[in-house]
Amino acid sequence: MANRAYNFNAGPAALPLEVLERAQKQFVEFENSGMSLMEMSHRGAVYEKVHFEAVALLRELMGIPHNYKVLFIQGGASTQFAMVPMNLIKSGKAPAYIATGSWATKAIQEAKMFGDITIAASTEADQYRRVPAINELQYSEDTSYLHLTSNETIEGTQWREYPDTGSVPLIGDLSSDILCRPIDVSQFAVIYAGAQKNLGPSGVTIVIIREDLIGQPDLPVPTMLRYSTHAKADSLYNTPPTFAVYMMNETLKWLKEQGGAAAMEQRNREKARLLYEVIDGSSGFYRGFAEPGSRSIMNVTFRLGSEELDKKFVKESEAEGFVGLKGHRSVGGMRASIYNAVPVESVRALVNFMKDFQSRNG
Ligand code: PMP
Repeated sequence: MANRAYNFNAGPAALPLEVLERAQKQFVEFENSGMSLMEMSHRGAVYEKVHFEAVALLRELMGIPHNYKVLFIQGGASTQFAMVPMNLIKSGKAPAYIATGSWATKAIQEAKMFGDITIAASTEADQYRRVPAINELQYSEDTSYLHLTSNETIEGTQWREYPDTGSVPLIGDLSSDILCRPIDVSQFAVIYAGAQKNLGPSGVTIVIIREDLIGQPDLPVPTMLRYSTHAKADSLYNTPPTFAVYMMNETLKWLKEQGGAAAMEQRNREKARLLYEVIDGSSGFYRGFAEPGSRSIMNVTFRLGSEELDKKFVKESEAEGFVGLKGHRSVGGMRASIYNAVPVESVRALVNFMKDFQSRNG
């Protein structure tokens, strides 16, 4: 048995041990092919089986309707910040964005390269400690689309319910909470997510797009940045990140074995509950960053009474085998990322450490 750290990394993040071990067994020779999966053509039947199995599993686990395409693209979610506006802005129809934190802001900055945008709501005045209420959103029915960030990985906020946008295409960045709970995909026109938090290693980005949006963009778009290029070729237009797709497929199989999105939600809620309970029961020793109504079940953010104490917490936790608890440099404090593959045992160990740390320093 490997000596596993209590891994709370924000992404790339913990993978299921079973997946790593399965991959290890198949690493040198894949299914009697005489070679590693990494050494074979992406045009061959062996790789294609893995590729289409991953698409089918994502469809099954997320309940993706038939009129949506599932694409595997490279360049991370950061490339989607540009591909979304390039492909989906209709001339004269400024897209609308919801400013909820660090990642939404990056998406907004990128969209501005392609023309005017509007802000449907912003929680900047609240230091991005919350997501807006649905009735705070203001956007024109004539907008190209409305973009939201489902889970702000850095601030630790998450949408509970998504807005019903009617005929306005809703675009969701689900990078840090895809498949953490069941969702109704049909509420969205496009969902995108890097795989490296909930679905596997880095290197592959998932785009789920309603077919009627895959047309000729109004803007001139290079071949590789057009959704239609990847849709027409089933994400095999050029060489895909074959090993990342393989690892994602194995992670999706694991997810299915565990009971799928509903089982993940139960487990993730329990992990989040354990942590928020310690924070709320600490008489102010630990202070949650996100407002309770917007708290994420993926990234739990909190601070101690001083930066000195924050530093001491990080240092001592590292000595005890906890990894990745230092918050993002832009907001400071602590962040425990508890994605699907983080076992509840890691969270229990952290809860015990937090209680113990408080008793020694409170
Ligand atoms: N959006 C969100 C919500 C994220 O958490 C991240 C990565 N942490 C990104 C976008 C950017 O993803 P990538 O590194 O895959 O470009």
